[in-house]
Amino acid sequence: MYVDGQWTPAAGARTYDSVNPYTQQPWAHVADGGPADADTAVRAARDAVDGRWGAMSGFERAEVLRRLAELIARDAAELAACETLDNGKLLREMRGQLDYIPAWFRYFAGLADKVQGETIPSDRSNFFVYTRREPVGVVGAIVPWNSPLLLLTWKLAPALAAGCTMVVKPSDYTPASSLELARRIDEAEVPPGVVNFVTGRGPELGEALVSHQGVDKIAFTGSPGVGAQVAVAAGAQLTPVILELGGKSAQVVFDDADVGAVANGVIAGIFAASGQSCIAGSRLIVDERIADDVVNRIVARAREIRMGDPMEPETEMGPLANEQQLEKVMGFIDRAVEEGAKVATGGRVSPEQGGLFVEPTVLAGVRPESEIAREEVFGPVLAVMTFTSEDEAVRFANSTEYALGAGVWTATVGRAHRVAHMLRAGTVWINSYRVVGPNVPFGGTGSSGWGRENGVDAIREYTTTKSVWVELEGATRDPFKLG
Ligand code: NAD
Repeated sequence: MYVDGQWTPAAGARTYDSVNPYTQQPWAHVADGGPADADTAVRAARDAVDGRWGAMSGFERAEVLRRLAELIARDAAELAACETLDNGKLLREMRGQLDYIPAWFRYFAGLADKVQGETIPSDRSNFFVYTRREPVGVVGAIVPWNSPLLLLTWKLAPALAAGCTMVVKPSDYTPASSLELARRIDEAEVPPGVVNFVTGRGPELGEALVSHQGVDKIAFTGSPGVGAQVAVAAGAQLTPVILELGGKSAQVVFDDADVGAVANGVIAGIFAASGQSCIAGSRLIVDERIADDVVNRIVARAREIRMGDPMEPETEMGPLANEQQLEKVMGFIDRAVEEGAKVATGGRVSPEQGGLFVEPTVLAGVRPESEIAREEVFGPVLAVMTFTSEDEAVRFANSTEYALGAGVWTATVGRAHRVAHMLRAGTVWINSYRVVGPNVPFGGTGSSGWGRENGVDAIREYTTTKSVWVELEGATRDPFKLG
């Protein structure tokens, strides 16, 4: 683990193995930390925010972020390979993410020297009033396995820009790339204690971090079930929480859409990353007049998807990340069929690949009230529903507790915006899907979470407002009267 600028074993000296999902063999030995390690790391982060880091100007913090961006850009290939060995996702997907991550550090470096308050015209002439945006302090960051460094960056870059310090707990399944990032943080001469990495199991180490009295804010990305536990544990200390949780995002397709573009966008939305993406477009809600055409195109392309070694450049779909994921995904498919869905393609563990590979699956004739239409699968499974009117399309799209992403496909500009406004989702893509950027807020509501990452909104999440009243004239006032 990397704590207070030092490499250290877990306090209990335990280790565990990280398993490569493709070979299903252990490939890395990692420290298995517990509450004592969380405590040491939080204390280091507290000392740093109260000390040298807290005293730095935004201009100096920006320089640190820029140095880190350059080191990540230099080592993107190595960091991406590390992620693929840990989570089984395609090397080309992880490489794409790693090549983009420096843009986040550069964008937030640009904001670090603009974290500023306001002067407020006072209703009394003898007062000058202004606000300051101050860092919230020590942030506990907990991230999932599907895009470990990208999702950590969405927390780390704005938190550092805002002047916070951080204790990071990566997923138990994917600790390696975070520890590799720690090496670059060390090389970038980020002062000791500013970013600390502790590795270990979620329920033990993660919960210790969330419950720690010394943590000022929790930034969590993961499943709604664990997110709710995190909110309760943090709530006991009144620690505020950002929650980026799951999704059941709809692709709403109208009869005037470009059908070729739709097929491509839907494939990208659900089969990229083997569907293991929070913004997976897992529901296709399509006008019944074009449904056969759209589904036939998607099925034809799904059958051509090349599954195999995620390290190979021509592979299009890798394995699922672990055994529990496989069981969960297959359970969803079986229950969907029992509820009346028809398997248009896929539906099995791949007979050719075996292991943790699930075929790209399209389920047609799904009823909006069924489990497969409402619950997150987090696998390569598309649920298809048809509609006969715009109202029905919006109603179907909004009939889940999740509200993270949505796609609208139509050539009619008014309808595109009208429907985008009516959909319950933190992000809506029109005639596109699965695009994100450092400057655009991202997040959800309902079961998809609280708060926003990215953009200026993220700086607000990691700062708090202080109002300062300055009496200008030395006037004395009635001590028993407000104002
Ligand atoms: P998970 O909830 O199982 O685990 C997330 C993290 O929480 C891990 O680091 C885990 O070790 C930790 N954890 C587990 N129990 C804990 C506890 N009791 N206290 C504190 N921490 C604990 O999620 P996962 O399976 O790793 O990731 C998949 C989920 O993440 C999906 O639901 C997906 O939609 C969601 N996700 C959301 C976004 C987003 O930005 N909205 C992005 C990616 C993934």
